[in-house]
Amino acid sequence: MDWIPTRARGLARLTDFLPSAGRLYAEQRNHDNGPAEGGDRGNVSQLSPWLHAGLLGEAEVLDAVLAQHGPGKAEKFVAEVFWRIYFKGWLEQRPSVWASYCAGRDAALEGLARNAGLARAYAEATEGRTGIAAFDTWARELAETGYLHNHARMWFASIWIFTLKLDWQLGADFFLRHLMDGDAASNTLSWRWVAGLHTRGKHYLARAENIARYTAGRPEGPLEAPGLVEDAGPLEEAEEHPRRLPELPPPAQAEDLAAPFALLLHDEAAHHAPLGLPAAPALVIGASRAQARSPGALGTCAARFTAGAMAGGLADAAQAFACPAVEWHAGEPLAPLLAEAGVERLAVPWLPVGWTRDALAPDLADMAEAGRIVTLLAPLDRATWPHAKAGFFGVAKRIDTLLGECGLPAG
Ligand SMILES: Cc1cc2nc3c(=O)[nH]c(=O)nc-3n(C[C@H](O)[C@H](O)[C@H](O)COP(=O)(O)OP(=O)(O)OC[C@H]3O[C@@H](n4cnc5c(N)ncnc54)[C@H](O)[C@@H]3O)c2cc1C
Repeated sequence: MDWIPTRARGLARLTDFLPSAGRLYAEQRNHDNGPAEGGDRGNVSQLSPWLHAGLLGEAEVLDAVLAQHGPGKAEKFVAEVFWRIYFKGWLEQRPSVWASYCAGRDAALEGLARNAGLARAYAEATEGRTGIAAFDTWARELAETGYLHNHARMWFASIWIFTLKLDWQLGADFFLRHLMDGDAASNTLSWRWVAGLHTRGKHYLARAENIARYTAGRPEGPLEAPGLVEDAGPLEEAEEHPRRLPELPPPAQAEDLAAPFALLLHDEAAHHAPLGLPAAPALVIGASRAQARSPGALGTCAARFTAGAMAGGLADAAQAFACPAVEWHAGEPLAPLLAEAGVERLAVPWLPVGWTRDALAPDLADMAEAGRIVTLLAPLDRATWPHAKAGFFGVAKRIDTLLGECGLPAG
């Protein structure tokens, strides 16, 4: 699998995967067959880096899969894409979960600096030297490829928390630094789900037998995981996270963007095509803040994918709108860029809770206050988020209705 961070490559991968998105995906998706060089990863889409970067939109992926297979056969794949939208909506309603994760991560990192034994255990885990073969394989695979199969992520997180007894927030940070698809919502909430904090009291315990069974298709054969703790209780937290649905912007209209405006692209919306802009911008601004993912350094694959996505997104937008494209770096003022292009208004794709909002919202606050920002939100997000209140079931039972509301093929 090549991980070329362009929209064109994402669309090509979608086309290649389409025949497998129906029955094959439903039956085979749980198998971790290893990286494509040696094994066959054709049972899952591997589209997550393109989806996370906004090089592809969820709606166009669902549309293509539903058109090929129909709602019945595509049900499993469609549900997984809705997990992504659900997690985003859930975190939007409880931003304190992200703030609490950041504080916990920073405290845990300080703890490592003070405790040599802990620092050693952390180094062994992140460098793949624990002696648990399966875990060590995934630790190296993550650093080398920037991707892990969904079940490998679950098993890895479970072993990290319950067998190695390391702080879950350090594990989530390790993932965010290395995953090309590293996502504040899907990552934080999946780690919390494994720990038993998302669905309180319900945690996920990795079992050696299960790992061997679902990794049998790897080129090196089934992965062994000796000595797993298989009877630990869930983690608990005292903190409450109150829920409030933020005000969601209405669909942007051409008249909202009648005056010359600039389009801002960010790390989770790096391409204009999925945004459905109703008018053409006079300027495109790339505001990558990928380093804000973590206080630590980003892994090579994640850094390369993120930088490439923004560079490609800017180039494509400049060509599509025949307008200039510039980069706006952290710490630089935005006003001169806008003044030079003679634009007053800014179209900004929704800033998701996570580092993207943390890094950009303060610098855009004055413009937002002055009513100079038009926020763009995908119809699927607008329709789904109000239902992402508690468990996934609240969204799952409405998938057909939500697809229909958004003009996608429904059952
Ligand atoms: C501990 C842990 C951490 C994770 N961290 C991330 C992360 O940082 N970013 C991320 O995008 N996903 C994350 N996931 C979810 C999931 O593992 C990946 O989305 C999936 O493995 C991506 O591979 P794929 O594109 O081949 O997925 P496919 O199986 O082909 O699914 C299609 C798409 O649906 C979405 N999706 C699938 N499964 C899930 C899921 N369980 N939760 C949310 N969305 C899903 C993804 O956008 C994916 O591209 C995490 C899961 C766990 C257990």
